Amino acid sequence: MEHKKSCTEQTERWQKKKVEFETSYPAYCRRCGGLGHGGGSYDRDTGSYDIESCPACQELGLCPLCKVILTEEGVCRKCGWGTPGVHKEFLPDAPECYCYEDLWEEKMSEMSKFDWLEENLSEDEDKEN
Ligand SMILES: [Zn+2]
Ligand SMILES: [Zn+2]
Ligand SMILES: [Zn+2]
Repeated sequence: MEHKKSCTEQTERWQKKKVEFETSYPAYCRRCGGLGHGGGSYDRDTGSYDIESCPACQELGLCPLCKVILTEEGVCRKCGWGTPGVHKEFLPDAPECYCYEDLWEEKMSEMSKFDWLEENLSEDEDKEN
């Protein structure tokens, strides 16, 4: 399948970022991308946003970037992850690709086959009658 130019560029940018990130933090948590949590969930009742710890690092008391044991305060001595007010880098998810859907939509709109199909179907019906 062909990817659109914008999609390819986006992926290339992300891959470059990934290489840089892996060079800086070779031990980073592959599960959360060094974020330390596996996303959050919005609680409608309380109106708060609960962030769940990543079970592969933060929940085990490990730094999501270096996988070293965090202090009791949840701070990494090596890179400073978890220090209040300090926002460390993380690796975002790979960009999503919608090329297939776009391609499909293009095909669908191009397709005059439906008209063709309808015409032929109605012809068959006529023959049967
Ligand atoms: Zn993690
Ligand atoms: Zn660290
Ligand atoms: Zn694509």
